[in-house]
Amino acid sequence: MANPRFMVGMEFKTHEVLRDAIKEHSIKMGKMIKFKKYDRQKVKAVCQKGCPWEIYGSYVPSDALFRVKKYKSVHECSRSFHVPWVSMHLILKKYSERIKGNPTWLVKSLAQTIEKEQMVKVSIQKVHRARRMALEELQGSAEEQFKQLWGYVEEGPHGGILLTAVAIDANNCIYPFAYAVVEKEKFKTWNWRWDLSGIPCIHAIAALNCLNLDIYDYVHECYKVDTYLSTYNHLVNPINGRDMWPITDNPILLPPDVQKRVGRPKKARRKEPEEPEPADPTKLGRKDIKMT
Ligand SMILES: [Zn+2]
Repeated sequence: MANPRFMVGMEFKTHEVLRDAIKEHSIKMGKMIKFKKYDRQKVKAVCQKGCPWEIYGSYVPSDALFRVKKYKSVHECSRSFHVPWVSMHLILKKYSERIKGNPTWLVKSLAQTIEKEQMVKVSIQKVHRARRMALEELQGSAEEQFKQLWGYVEEGPHGGILLTAVAIDANNCIYPFAYAVVEKEKFKTWNWRWDLSGIPCIHAIAALNCLNLDIYDYVHECYKVDTYLSTYNHLVNPINGRDMWPITDNPILLPPDVQKRVGRPKKARRKEPEEPEPADPTKLGRKDIKMT
């Protein structure tokens, strides 16, 4: 219920629906509303001391619903930024889709967005938990998609075994960088994997230059324009929609485990061993200093 407006006689399915509407009102208006009574039979909420705002509703057994019996709509209090009602439930309801669409959204920035849009203060811990729950849900849908891979293999124009190789991108997310459908899983079929670091290192370049050889000849074929063009050269065959894929007896595939490491993820780039340490700008080097 977006920005609920109450009135006497208004009906709610259960006491929980009325409670959520009151919480929503509390957040929208920035009011410190407290529940004086809250159970299956009666709900009574009041505003802070000195403010006449009040709502009371009770269960009507004959109609099997909750009805507002008493309502004083005027607030005499001022807007508060510290409304206690920004629940996990509310954050998830309003933001889970956006979190799923942007899984790398930082908790701090997400909390700032919620505070700005809802005009309330939220705790970082609460936002953190809500974000984790939304992403766990997303992981669940990833599992569903992996379960369908066998069906995709059976349905596809090639038949056979599906092999995929995954990598981690700059945002610590897994993505498949190559896949192949092979007739059988064996050493030979796993050998299709390219060595992606097929670029000569600085030492090799130095040696090649010394021998007057062309470095380009020693770069892996996979980096060359011709390879790129031939990769996208073939026709991609259309296949039936997901609903029409056959159900197989193969064991259910699960997405690769996401190994959550302890602590904050490292942001700093890993330095090469020969890279010099950056000079400390707060210290004066010993070099060129004459001792007197
Ligand atoms: Zn009030």
